[in-house]
Amino acid sequence: MLSCPLCGCHDVGRIAPDHYYCWNCFVELALEGGRVRAFNVDLEGMLTPVGAEGAVPEPQPGEGCS
Ligand SMILES: [Zn+2]
Repeated sequence: MLSCPLCGCHDVGRIAPDHYYCWNCFVELALEGGRVRAFNVDLEGMLTPVGAEGAVPEPQPGEGCS
């Protein structure tokens, strides 16, 4: 099962074949070529990469995740 690369939480829902959504930190996760990119979703539904080129920082397991 996929876990969020940002928070390490497993509360990740599938929204499309290669797209997932983390309900803990509210980011969309896209699988591209075997790696995960993370995007913030703004109020208009536009995706903004988290970090440079959507690169994700080190996971922080347990932060706000039960
Ligand atoms: Zn998360």
